[in-house]
Amino acid sequence: MKCSQFLTELNDFLDGSLDQKLKAELSEHLTWCHNCYIVCNTTKKTIEIYRENKIYELPDTLRAKLHDAIVTKCKSSKPTPES
Ligand SMILES: [Zn+2]
Repeated sequence: MKCSQFLTELNDFLDGSLDQKLKAELSEHLTWCHNCYIVCNTTKKTIEIYRENKIYELPDTLRAKLHDAIVTKCKSSKPTPES
């Protein structure tokens, strides 16, 4: 799985709405890709903060902002092995 694919599925992954196979693939990606691991944790924490404040929907602007930051970070980093 490539980082771009991981990022596409990340929201559903955190929602827990992915099927088991895809979920396993994303988990596997996290074991070797440090960038996505950080992104996953950050996004998870952000979502938790929103949930604690009883805001269940992430604003699109924040979602886009997070996504841009992630893509920039991935592009600027050294190439990582892709499975
Ligand atoms: Zn990755």
